[in-house]
Amino acid sequence: MILVIMGPPGAGKGTQASRLAAELGIPQVSTGELLREARRDGSEVGQRAAINMDAGTLVPDEVVMTLIERRLEQQDCGSGAILDGFPRTVAQAVQLDDMLERSGRQVDRVVSISVTEDEIVERILGRLTCGQCGAVYHRTTKPTAREGHCDLCGGLVSSRSDDNEEAVRIRLQTYSNLTAPVLDYYGGAGRLASVDGSGGLDEVFNRVQGAL
Ligand code: AMP
Repeated sequence: MILVIMGPPGAGKGTQASRLAAELGIPQVSTGELLREARRDGSEVGQRAAINMDAGTLVPDEVVMTLIERRLEQQDCGSGAILDGFPRTVAQAVQLDDMLERSGRQVDRVVSISVTEDEIVERILGRLTCGQCGAVYHRTTKPTAREGHCDLCGGLVSSRSDDNEEAVRIRLQTYSNLTAPVLDYYGGAGRLASVDGSGGLDEVFNRVQGAL
């Protein structure tokens, strides 16, 4: 089963995808995380992607398609995956459909999480991410037990380099220009469900499950 979780930056895609992955027993595949991993490895792909990521713009489609294709070929994705932050352009959505069709698969359901712009900015500017395992916290609503350290792996938590006000504004603009049209692409094919992303994590998770 291939599920796609969509929504603007800060909508809670990663958090909800990770809970769904645990619930359904299929991996969460986040292109943002794959790109951050490539940056941490110091690879050429990672270094080039860093320029777009820090500016809040999209990494070129061909770079992301290569990463996702390799990831979906791995054995743990054999019974499916929850795609988080991908596809982000109509071209990526079309190529994903083609790629899945070649292996007899398809996107089964798309869940779009919506939140207001003010809430997005508040969530992102307070967000802290573990540099080691990628776990996500918030300065006020979900602080770490030990300041500056991840509860799960003890790694250092900090604000992502693209979680600043200027990059967030650009990411929101990028979302409405390039990613929102992907919702029409899936809506037309009857695969899309939209959920309200406001409120607590459990509340939103119940809505996501309901939408599936
Ligand atoms: P995220 O962790 O999903 O917020 O992604 C962080 C950044 O990685 C984005 O602002 C983009 O620069 C880049 N990125 C992640 N996923 C994609 C994608 N599917 N296409 C292009 N760029 C992406």
